Amino acid sequence: MSILPILEVPHPILRKKAKRVRSITKKELTLAYDMVDTMREAGGVGLAANQIGELWRIIVLQMPDEEESRIYFNPEIIKTSGSREVEEGCLSLPGYRGIVNRSVWIKFQGLDHTDQVVKFEAENLLSQVLEHEVDHLNGILYSDHLAEHHELYPATQEEEGLAEQDVKSAESPASLKID
Ligand code: ZN
Repeated sequence: MSILPILEVPHPILRKKAKRVRSITKKELTLAYDMVDTMREAGGVGLAANQIGELWRIIVLQMPDEEESRIYFNPEIIKTSGSREVEEGCLSLPGYRGIVNRSVWIKFQGLDHTDQVVKFEAENLLSQVLEHEVDHLNGILYSDHLAEHHELYPATQEEEGLAEQDVKSAESPASLKID
């Protein structure tokens, strides 16, 4: 297990599309577990392979209310519904935050660390993180989704620590404005 350096904007790999994982071998699993270590060290709730310079479709998540980290290979958002404004940050854009448009509900599909297909519906922080991380695999950053009349703004000192989170965990309901 190792902690890997996280690439920051404007690194070109962050704008590239990651390739599908053909088979989940020891190599892919080691990479995924290294991503988990890296995400945990940074205090993030999600990390995509592009962010550590690997163009494979792998994402990892650490939901605040879950003990185990989630690992997904070839993740896909297969259906979305609704639109809401939420506050986000990204480990690859440290020191900034922004209000972005995200779906209210999504249907997700991917392969887990045991190579099993998993399919589920998600809302709130889980759908937000999944959308954020799948975007990374397509070379898209949250700053591409800024809500109308919004710009990136510097994180406050208190949030600076939270800027180490890929997507801020929404502790206050106010930061999860659903409309
Ligand atoms: Zn990010």
